[in-house]
Parts: sequence; structure tokens; C-alpha cells
Amino acid sequence: MDIHAADELAPIVEDDAFIRKALEAASTPALLATLIHLTGDPALLNERFRPTPTMGTAFGTLPAEAHAELIDRAVAELGRLRDGPREPLRKPSADQIQRVIAFVLGQDVPGEYTPFAMDELGIEPLPTPKMSPPPGFHALIVGAGMSGLLAAIKLDQAGIAWTIVEKNPDVGGTWFENRYPGVRVDSPNHNYAYSFAPNHDWSHYFSQGAEILAYFRSIADRFGLRERIRFGTELVEARFDEDAGLWRAALAGPDGRETVEANILISAVGQLNRPRLPDIPGIADFAGPMMHSAQWDPSVDFAGKRVAMIGTGASAMQIVPELARIAEHVTVFQRHAPWITPQSVYRKPVEEGKSWLLGHVPHYARWYRFLLFYATADQVHPATQVDPDWPDHDRSISAMSGMVRDGLEAMFRQQTEGRPDLYEKVIPVFPPFGSRMLVDDGTWLATLRRDNVTLVTDGIDHVEADGVVDGKGIMHEVDVLALATGFHANRFLWPMEIYGREGRSLAALWGDEPRAHLGVTVPGFPNLFILYGPGTNLAFGGSIIFTVECQVRMMLDALARMVEGGGTTIECDAASYDAHVAELSAMLATSVWAHPEARNWYRNRRGVVVNTMPFRLIDYWTWTKSVAPYDYIVRAPAEVAAAD
Ligand SMILES: Cc1cc2nc3c(=O)[nH]c(=O)nc-3n(C[C@H](O)[C@H](O)[C@H](O)COP(=O)(O)OP(=O)(O)OC[C@H]3O[C@@H](n4cnc5c(N)ncnc54)[C@H](O)[C@@H]3O)c2cc1C
Repeated sequence: MDIHAADELAPIVEDDAFIRKALEAASTPALLATLIHLTGDPALLNERFRPTPTMGTAFGTLPAEAHAELIDRAVAELGRLRDGPREPLRKPSADQIQRVIAFVLGQDVPGEYTPFAMDELGIEPLPTPKMSPPPGFHALIVGAGMSGLLAAIKLDQAGIAWTIVEKNPDVGGTWFENRYPGVRVDSPNHNYAYSFAPNHDWSHYFSQGAEILAYFRSIADRFGLRERIRFGTELVEARFDEDAGLWRAALAGPDGRETVEANILISAVGQLNRPRLPDIPGIADFAGPMMHSAQWDPSVDFAGKRVAMIGTGASAMQIVPELARIAEHVTVFQRHAPWITPQSVYRKPVEEGKSWLLGHVPHYARWYRFLLFYATADQVHPATQVDPDWPDHDRSISAMSGMVRDGLEAMFRQQTEGRPDLYEKVIPVFPPFGSRMLVDDGTWLATLRRDNVTLVTDGIDHVEADGVVDGKGIMHEVDVLALATGFHANRFLWPMEIYGREGRSLAALWGDEPRAHLGVTVPGFPNLFILYGPGTNLAFGGSIIFTVECQVRMMLDALARMVEGGGTTIECDAASYDAHVAELSAMLATSVWAHPEARNWYRNRRGVVVNTMPFRLIDYWTWTKSVAPYDYIVRAPAEVAAAD
């Protein structure tokens, strides 16, 4: 896989006819923004070029005549880049960028997005701090998935030595483990990549798991990470030694147990790494093959088999269509119907022209990514927060939530036409976004309409050796049991045991309601940084890579304060933690995920939301750009002792 630095582009050598053909695949707003950025021509900000916005996509459109004119301009400009003398690229001001964003999105976009855009577009990129830590200073990263690799790359750039311990034999985390048929991203792939290492050649708009794994493997190779990863090694326990200002970690590896020391401990163990198996009476007696989605057994041949699928979340929605094509029969057991958002390009390959534009045209890839980010995430954020004045909170919680609901209901109706019985089973009982919003191109409901697929919504009473008995006592005989029942997502950092100052257990402190300052740090646990921690999961759009990049940036800023200030520990201030947790908890309590009818994996047994982030992405980016000095306490060893 060919990964590039963000502005590493191939030269344009193709003729005008090729370029014109490639431009047919361009996203209109991204192309328009790119042209304005390249030329600075105010004529392009003329009303007739303003794209008509389309909710939830970055693909606003233009009337045919204006579109043709735009393509002519683009062919001429790209020809000039190809044939003309090499000139330095223009650097628009923040004001200009703000106007371009509002124009191409066809709506007012608050000015707070401009610094973010200036960073994303590479005009004023946020710097990575460079540090000169004392000799022997070392960070221990737990996990070599997306987050651990990112932390390692950025620590290298900052000048901090590190080791990763990884329980698996390879990198990739989620994408190494989840090998079930149909596994793919449900965030647009051009957003699901590190900002500094785009892949312009994603095969699909939402590529399959093997390709995502190949991306992370290439990242490990390109950045020279592998030699410093200890594969097959699990961190079991870590204790903070206050006198030494160090973490001592107990590892279980190929050569048995050992203890290592580290100045900094970084948890990158993910939220979705420990499969949850359902506690159904009799399940252990099932005689045939049984597998969880994250522990798929590729040796099982599903052709001609009768299969039970337990679960209708994101993984089930990807697996069932694949199994239904080859199995004799698939019986799907649904506890709660999820909301599904239509995405016509969900299974579509990326057009060659689009890949060419991404890899050749200055600014295009960055604009495309920025517009995708805004249009598929923050733009829909108002649908996740309760408007107290909004009537009928059973169906929707705000004006935007109502609008989304109307649109989605129409889609469900259309896709279940002639099957009112199916509509009643698949229409969710809570407002949109109350569970993970799934992405689909019509395949899911078409699959449920197949003759060889049965949807059971009466619950499961028990499992027997040769089948599943539903809540009405009906036996469904099956040969294979597939479990898409999710993960122990609420048990953060589990089963690791982490002990901070005064031997305090993190698990005991958290109980069933884990919280962290901006999802990353906890008072009493100095020099511990948690990536993809509590309250940072994204449930309305965007990509987890974005939030983890924010967290790593904040961590580096905190470390720079500590290292440059001559300290040995940095710890989150308890008052700042309390203030953040209060704000987070209040927003989560009035979010759609806490709606009385909402069913999702973000809540603990008491119904408190623990996984998910209620804030807009722009808020999170702004708050994590750097650490507020009063949020952190830096201490030298003598002070650590004195503080006791
Ligand atoms: C099927 C699936 C699809 C997804 N699709 C998307 C998507 O489209 N968009 C999106 O934004 N997110 C998606 N996610 C969420 C996904 O988990 C994150 O995007 C991302 O992969 C998280 O990376 P991570 O490195 O934080 O965690 P993980 O990828 O889970 O990696 C954690 C790593 O830590 C290792 N580890 C755990 N405990 C220990 C220990 N004690 N000692 C040593 N090693 C340990 C694990 O082996 C693993 O390699 C998806 C998740 C799943 C399960």
C-alpha cells in the first residue's frame, strides 16, 4: 500500500482529456474550494457556483451549466500547473478560508472552525513539540492498534523513546482481530486514516477490513515501528512508584512474566477489544460451531448451512448479507432495531478519477477530507442533544432529530414496501442516533426480505444442542451459531489492573462509571495517558482516528510541559477533572444516548452513558490543542514526597 505524506503529490503529466475525465468524479464543493485556493479568483465565489447543500454528505451539487463551467476552469488550471512554470502555492488567510468554507458548503459555518481548517488544510499546521528528556526516559505503550501506532509515531517525532507491548502477534488491533465476512469501515475511508498519512488509493469509499489492516501494517513499516513492538506480550498490571516517579508494569509474554519500568504509561487498548459473549441458558451445550464476530473461524464453511445470528448491530449488519448468499437459511435474532442511515457509496469502489485527483491535485485531498469531516459529523450534532422545548420526545428530541427521523422513516418504508410486518420489526422505538447509527446501501433490509432469512424479535429463551428456542418457545434448528454481541465496552482498560498513587486501584475508583479528563487523564494516576478512553467514542459521525489524534496532541503538550519544566510527573488537577466530568455528565444526561427508550452499548447497567462523547468535534479539537496549565500539576521527585 502506497501511503503518502499529506502534501506528497505525484506531478501532473496527463493530457487534458484524461484530466477532464478524472474531474467527472470530483466532489463539487471540494473541487470548487481547491480551485479558489489555487487561483484566489473571486469570480469563483459567484452565486452561480454556490453548491446546493445536501445533508450528511460533502457532495452538494451545481446546475449542469455552472458545473460544466467549473470543469472547464479546472481543466485549464490543472493544465497550467502541468505546463507552466513552477510557482509557490498560494497561502490564503484565515478570513479567506472562512469565506470559502461557508460558500462551498452553502451555509454559515461558525468562525471557530477556521483554525481547525487552517490546520487540516496544512496552511497553519499545529506543531508537534520537540523535547529533550533526560537519558533513559521511556514511555510504555499498551496496544499496537490504530492508537498505539499513532502514539509511537508522534513520540518519535517529539524525541521520546518508547516500547509497545501488544498481546497479538501483529499490529492493527480491531482490524487484526475482526476478520468476519463483510467487515469494513463505516466511517468514510478518506477520513479513516491518519491526517499525516493519507492513502489516496483506497479501493472503496468504505473499504474492507483486510485493506484497513494493510494500511496499519504499512504504517508500522513506513515509520519503522515494528522492531520496538513486543508482540505476544500482555500488560497484566501496572503500579505507580511514587518515590521513583515511575510506572512498574507486569508483563506476560512468550518467556513468562517480567516487570519493566517506564516513566510514562500510555493505554491504547481500545474500547472494542474484549468480546462479550451472551449469557444465554444452554449456550455452552450448542453442538455445532459457535463464533463471536471478533473471533471468526475461517475454517467453517457456511455453504448450505442453517445459521443463527445473534445481534443486529454494526457487525451483524455486515455479516448477515454475506452469509445469506451462501447459507441454506439464516435466522437473525434481534433485541433492538437499530437506526440505519442510507449511504449509496457504502459498497462502491472509488472511481479512478477521484483517486487521481486525490493523489495529484494540490489541496484537493485536504479539502475533500475537511468537508467530509464537517458534513458527516458536527453538522448533525444538534440531532444528539435534547431540546427541552421540542414536543414529542418519544419520536425525536430536537428539530434536526425530527428532520432526520422523517427522512429515515421514509427510507425504511420504501425499503420494506409491501411488508408492513417487516417495517414494524425494523423501525427503532427510540429517536435517531439513540444507538450507533449504522450505515447501509439498502442491502440490510433487502437481505431481511430474502426467503432464506428469518428475523426473530421475540427474544431468546435458551439454546439447545441443535438450535435456538425463542421467547415464544419456537425452536429454530441451526448448524452454526454466530454471535455479533459486541464487546465489554464499558470496562475500560479491563482486565489490566492499574494502581496509581497510594496504591489506589483505577478499576475501584471508576466502578461502573469510568471518567477521565477529556477522556485522557485521571487525578491520582500521574504519567498515565489513556487513548480512546471513557467519554471519547464517537456516536454521531467522524472517525475515531480524529479524536485519538487530538488526545495524542494533548498528551505531547502535557509531556512537553513536564519535560521542559524539569519535572518527573504530570498529573491532572482534581478540580479540573471534576469540572470536566460535571460538564460531560450533564451533557450526556441530556443526550439522545440517555433517552429512556434508547438501547446502546454506551450505557452501564444503571443507564449512565460512559463511552460516548457528547461534544462537537470542534470543541474537542479546541480543548485538546494544548493543555491549560492550570489543568495539570507538574512535580519533581522531592515535591512528590512533600505533597504526601
Ligand atoms: C468491527 C469494527 C469496525 C469499526 N469501524 C470503525 C469505523 O468505521 N470508524 C471508526 O472510527 N471506528 C471504528 N471502529 C472502532 C475501532 O475500534 C477504532 O476505530 C480503532 O480501531 C481503535 O483503535 P485502538 O488502537 O484504540 O484500539 P484497538 O484497535 O482495539 O487496539 C487495541 C490493541 O491493544 C491490544 N491490547 C489490549 N489489551 C492489551 C494488554 N493488556 N496488553 C497488551 N496489548 C493489549 C489489543 O490486542 C489491540 O491490538 C470499529 C470497531 C470494530 C470492532
